Amino acid sequence: MMREDGRANDVLREINITRNYTKYAQGSVLIAMGDTKVLCTATVEEKVPPFMRGSGGGWLSAEYAMLPASVAVRKQRDINRGRLDGRSAEIQRLIGRALRSVMDLKKLGERTIWIDCDVLQADGGTRTCAITGAYVALQDCIQYLLEQKIIDENPIRCAVAAVSVGIVEDEILLDLSYSEDSCAQADMNVVMTEEGEFCEIQATGEKRPITQEEMTAMLNVVQKAMVQLFEKIDGGE
Ligand code: UDP
Repeated sequence: MMREDGRANDVLREINITRNYTKYAQGSVLIAMGDTKVLCTATVEEKVPPFMRGSGGGWLSAEYAMLPASVAVRKQRDINRGRLDGRSAEIQRLIGRALRSVMDLKKLGERTIWIDCDVLQADGGTRTCAITGAYVALQDCIQYLLEQKIIDENPIRCAVAAVSVGIVEDEILLDLSYSEDSCAQADMNVVMTEEGEFCEIQATGEKRPITQEEMTAMLNVVQKAMVQLFEKIDGGE
């Protein structure tokens, strides 16, 4: 099978990471994976949610949204629909969990880092792209806190990134575009640390279940791609 953009099955789309994209947030990153583009910011708030108060530790929370014109058919803003989109709620919790899993929140003190991921253009893999971009924004935000001597130890234990993989016409394809995702038999979103550990795996047999062999093969493809993803993150401007 030939992929629309001519990529081999185990090749990532082109990744572009632009740091300091906007000026007010302590971390601000525009990340593009192919035609998927997400603005990820990290902002510090000097308080924690009620359940964390008095614990001495901090918190990290994430929000995710798609801009109306990020998709081919205009998507109404949640505020005008009067309720949060279920898919967005699921994705923002995933982003928050992914980043918290690599942090020592005690080292943050009693403050919250807000991660905001806004999809400017969606072409598949917005949640995985958001996690990778949000991690870079978090790094910059933590660097700011260290430089300003607001915290004295780095709460980030390890780098984290994410990518999608799926099964299309019984072939395993890395980093699905929307057209591939929409006809995938199964898909998977994998969040991993730079040390090769798994933070979260969401695997869905959409049109048919995934076999044990396919599951292993999908994870192998992802593990190889992660090396390149982390190289890109570490070398990001
Ligand atoms: N999509 C869309 N409208 C929506 C939701 C999704 O056009 O309301 C498209 C978009 O390109 C997205 C893709 O479908 O990237 C796959 O969506 P999914 O829910 O699987 O999440 P994602 O792959 O973006 O993390």
